[in-house]
Amino acid sequence: MFGDLVEAIHQLTAEADNGDEIVLVCHEPDCGRRLVLKRSGGLVVLDRGDFFARHVGGSDGVTISTAIAA
Ligand SMILES: [Zn+2]
Repeated sequence: MFGDLVEAIHQLTAEADNGDEIVLVCHEPDCGRRLVLKRSGGLVVLDRGDFFARHVGGSDGVTISTAIAA
């Protein structure tokens, strides 16, 4: 129902990792968020995807739990 306050949880999958930056992708239908997580710190959102979903995921000890407002 529209206006549901229960947060969707989306799982991010690491698709690329060059040792410094990790590309994380959400495979949820109608989302498709993509972002780059930098081990040095920082985050770049490539595709916003479903803005209201909570995205969790990680790679090699780098974890992320965001409600990114970027
Ligand atoms: Zn998503």
